[in-house]
Amino acid sequence: MMNSIFKKIIIATTNKGKYQEFVYLIKNLSQNFADEIIFAPEISKLLVEETGKTYSENAILKARAWSEKSGLTCLADDSGLEVEALNGAPGLFSARIIKGSDYEKNKWLLNELRNNQNRNAKFKAAIAIAIPNKEILVCEGECKGRISESIMGENGFGYDPVFIPDGFDKSFAELDSQTKNLISHRADAFKKIFRKYRII
Ligand code: IMP
Repeated sequence: MMNSIFKKIIIATTNKGKYQEFVYLIKNLSQNFADEIIFAPEISKLLVEETGKTYSENAILKARAWSEKSGLTCLADDSGLEVEALNGAPGLFSARIIKGSDYEKNKWLLNELRNNQNRNAKFKAAIAIAIPNKEILVCEGECKGRISESIMGENGFGYDPVFIPDGFDKSFAELDSQTKNLISHRADAFKKIFRKYRII
């Protein structure tokens, strides 16, 4: 049996939806990436302020803070939805653009785009892996698509019910998780980080 690259890896997010996607991506991309994949809130509490000016800077801030606190390898992402007709908003502020539930954020977005023919949008993600006493690894990925006219589907999290990826006529929230994990911005960033740093 092959030795794993990491004994333990912490997924530094408080978002259970993201955590589940990372577990799926790790298990499907590499058989020997990690023996144990830990959801950060299960071992500790740590609030990292997202003060970076890019997705990569924020992902690095989170991965580094968690790695320093735990002494373990930590993977963090920072992601957002960029809508062309809104000049790239909500972008870096996707989680904080308005206070409220995911449903309220989706309603806000549909309202901002009402009567707008330009529905082009893309999800962006940066992934950072902080390995104790080593250089930090970081890569960005994206997934292009369009904003729907209404809320569609119940799977996933965040803006999944209003985002239709290119090549599909269903929203991320209507597609099964395997399909989303093949084409998502997080999957794109994850594959790139594997390739760039020859982790596999
Ligand atoms: P952060 O990366 O924790 O700052 O949050 C990014 C925010 O962007 C999330 O809270 C969601 O609202 C949104 N987002 C990022 N990735 C996805 C996704 O795959 N589906 C739906 N919404 C997402």
